Amino acid sequence: MEENIINILSDDTVDKIAAGEVVERPSSVVKELVENSIDSGANSVSVSIRGGGITEIRISDNGSGILRSEIKKAFMPHATSKIKEASDLDSIHTLGFRGEALSSIAAVSNVHMITKASDDDLGTDYIIEGGKEISNGLTGAPDGTTLIVRNLFFNTPARRKFLKSEKTESIYIEDVLCHIAISHPEISFSFKSDGRDRMMTSGNSRLIDSIYQIYGRDIASNLIPVKDKCDLFLVNGFIGNYSLVRGNRSLESFYINKRSVIDKTLSKALEDGYKGFLMKRQFPFAVLFFTFPEGSVDVNVHPSKREVRISDTQYVMENLTSMIHKALSGREDILEPVEAEAVKKPFIIHDKKTDSNHSEIAIPEPFEKNFISSYTEKLDEELRDKVSHDEKVSEIAEKVYNTDSYEQLSFISEESRPDINIIGQIFKTYWIIEWNKKVYIIDQHAAHEKVNYERMISSLHKHTMTSQEVVPPVIVSLSAKEMESAEKIRNEMESLGYRYESFGGKEYMISAMPGNLPDIDLKSLFMSIVSEAAQWNNKFTSDMIEERIATMSCKASIKGNQSISFDEAAALFDELLTLDEPYHCPHGRPTMIAVSREDLDKLFRRIV
Ligand code: ADP
Ligand code: MG
Repeated sequence: MEENIINILSDDTVDKIAAGEVVERPSSVVKELVENSIDSGANSVSVSIRGGGITEIRISDNGSGILRSEIKKAFMPHATSKIKEASDLDSIHTLGFRGEALSSIAAVSNVHMITKASDDDLGTDYIIEGGKEISNGLTGAPDGTTLIVRNLFFNTPARRKFLKSEKTESIYIEDVLCHIAISHPEISFSFKSDGRDRMMTSGNSRLIDSIYQIYGRDIASNLIPVKDKCDLFLVNGFIGNYSLVRGNRSLESFYINKRSVIDKTLSKALEDGYKGFLMKRQFPFAVLFFTFPEGSVDVNVHPSKREVRISDTQYVMENLTSMIHKALSGREDILEPVEAEAVKKPFIIHDKKTDSNHSEIAIPEPFEKNFISSYTEKLDEELRDKVSHDEKVSEIAEKVYNTDSYEQLSFISEESRPDINIIGQIFKTYWIIEWNKKVYIIDQHAAHEKVNYERMISSLHKHTMTSQEVVPPVIVSLSAKEMESAEKIRNEMESLGYRYESFGGKEYMISAMPGNLPDIDLKSLFMSIVSEAAQWNNKFTSDMIEERIATMSCKASIKGNQSISFDEAAALFDELLTLDEPYHCPHGRPTMIAVSREDLDKLFRRIV
């Protein structure tokens, strides 16, 4: 090719390039086509694929169909019935609007469409391959559209090579469909891969039912509803309690105006809301729907439309974080590791491996294929008897929505205190408590840590930190960077209770220290805050002080393997149980777990 010659690309090449932006892999075809079905007003959409969607994708809906007179146009680039001009972009209510999907898909595959609009007497049978119309005939068909896409990327081998295995591509498709189905509980979706049923939702308009049908019982019965609003947005949906944590973000789903989006701001805000409930590198379950007013979110940032631009991210962050925190606080969140499943197989509990690795009981496997397939197997069983299935669904919905039961019977409520029966200590570490048909086991170390931490944080927030002179003053040596940060964070340090000044050279003299942080090595706290601030290049936040204090209070607390008296324990639990969130230590480990009388009865085979 001569380099200084400018070529005008052929239509065919332009189409293939454009197709690359919208159609990256089979799952993008499915996403675009299912979104078209939703936009067409369908309330039933079925998807079946073969060979990971590379061999064939077949999507049928009972929506509006396409008028015979519009068929050719639908397959032209930038052809859309959804917007007329740029100003319409601000008020989009449909999922599609760029008019690229059908033309792009047709450019790189063999498409067969059968569609009928109710205003036409006969439907259309249309075949287009590699962007070229092959046939356009009449056919009898019900209202709605069926699209069959075969041989994806047959004419763009480079793209085809870039695909993963059929199994992986099929997983991507399932993931896309799950996200879409969750956001449209009013539509019934089904998905088959190589003839096997993989997913089915009932379309009865209840979000909790869709979550149950897609994620299964364990998740559906461990959810906390979120319903809140601020000046900029409404949020609605569910978040998971502590038992649903994962090692990655795969169970965080966000929707803005019903569109599934991936957004770092929202993830961060969600996770910040869980601070104190989860450990580092743990991620919660969430299905959250946001409604933003027209114009405050730009959805036209990326061809796949999964990225969006939110106008005031800082404001959104702050509000979402506090909404999540509010939803989580004041709920009983005590881990019950002996779940019904384990009870069925009691030997697992005595298994060495499981015993030594506590987190295996507490933290379920990350989201993986087996997660959905085990769900599907369950679903097969459960859907067989539709009636009993619906009963189960409403039983769970009841449990989820019924917040009363939480308030009536709470281990931590003031009224329960007189009935709490402290049985004693075991392994010099755990305390056994009996209350209301349950045995509670409290980790004295975690409990003490939590109580210490909360005491300090509350004094910090209430600005009731006191300062106490130290005689003689403590001299510390700081690096140049640390000296710089000691000056930068002087205000924060003084509000903690520290007074210090340069003592010449690299030395600093600390003349006063916090008066109400008992048990903590205050010199180490000073050093660790200053050196952390230096590491962060003085981008210092009050969160960092809290994090440091959490770590220090952890060190200061009673360790396991140390006997404390009944009275000391009772005082500790009294203080613990008055906290808003007594269930986790500052680093997110549980402070208490519970085993119900019923679980024990099952373990001992008193009941089955
Ligand atoms: P967009 O969705 O951005 O408008 P597409 O290329 O996906 O662009 O679709 C082009 C047009 O074809 C749509 O605007 C719609 O009018 C029509 N269409 C596509 N799929 C369907 C369907 N399943 N049912 C009814 N109409 C459809
Ligand atoms: Mg579309």
